[in-house]
Amino acid sequence: MTNNRPIPPRKPTPPQPINEPVTQNSFKPYKLIPLSNKTPQRKHPVGQDRYKSQLLSGKLCLKLTVKTSTFVASGVVVMGSDLSSRTKNIPLVKVAVGKDEKLIIPGSSLKGVIRSTYEAITLSCLCKTKANREAIPNGYKECNDKQKLCPACQVFGAMGWQGLISFNDAIADEIKPSIGFMPSLHNPRPKRDGYYLNGKVAGRKFYYHAIKPVDKGQQQGIPVQQAGNELTFSTQLQFMNLTKAELGTLLIVLGQDKNNNFALKVGGGKPIGMGTMIVELTKIERCNDLKNRYLDYCYSENDFLAGDKLKQYIQELIQASHNEKLVQIDALKELKEIWKYPTTREAPQDMY
Ligand SMILES: [Zn+2]
Repeated sequence: MTNNRPIPPRKPTPPQPINEPVTQNSFKPYKLIPLSNKTPQRKHPVGQDRYKSQLLSGKLCLKLTVKTSTFVASGVVVMGSDLSSRTKNIPLVKVAVGKDEKLIIPGSSLKGVIRSTYEAITLSCLCKTKANREAIPNGYKECNDKQKLCPACQVFGAMGWQGLISFNDAIADEIKPSIGFMPSLHNPRPKRDGYYLNGKVAGRKFYYHAIKPVDKGQQQGIPVQQAGNELTFSTQLQFMNLTKAELGTLLIVLGQDKNNNFALKVGGGKPIGMGTMIVELTKIERCNDLKNRYLDYCYSENDFLAGDKLKQYIQELIQASHNEKLVQIDALKELKEIWKYPTTREAPQDMY
């Protein structure tokens, strides 16, 4: 007998418990902003049936600058050759929302991110959550009484109740085609324990910014038509019957507070570092002359603020938000920690 029998295959090691191993690479690309111990304070909404002279109405002119590639899916996938001559060698491309060859960030996408941020830094109800109803903490159920609305529902609207601000689509300032890459991401896992505390929703989830999105590498994924770095978009946001504190809180959300600089996160690919945009408020148009406002659709040209006067006014509004304690200082600190920009954070490579 010789001793050259093949070595039996080594027994596979038993599977390790999948208990969220804490390694350098498995840090989460998001953080929860905890819900306050205090519950949303609901009150009668001011309404939009007429302009109220003691409240603020007008328009914010905004410029958005893409800092990490941003993709808002249109739901359409085309052959690269159908899109442009530059992409003719790419078999399939997911198409972004656009119009006349220019990319668009739909008003609804902007409203979504701005609303959820406003909710997180005010004492507002949990709207549009995927969590089970039973998991919503006491007092945080979505507003359903039109006579009593939380701070966010007052401004953004509630079921059957129109809000006080409206969003236009943001349109790219130039035609600048850019093809990126979107890996296959995990589906969101709303049942993950980390979202809950004693069986109740613990907070609202926000993704960190990253220096740049993950590269294609070896990952499975699909090419996407994206808004590339430094592409700018312009848009306008109309508001009516807001208090100074409400408009101030909106400006904090838009990153206009010099003590709380942050960028927004828009569109798909948030876990892998996509969708970072900074907002610049270029002009506020106010309609002080309400009589003319009813007679004339256009605001008179001399009724706007820009430059230093605008900066001063922004501070005044933000101060009002703090004075009236509309913005919750703890939640704002959390948001600043997550969304501060610029960042030194790397997108996690093995997230998906
Ligand atoms: Zn509400």
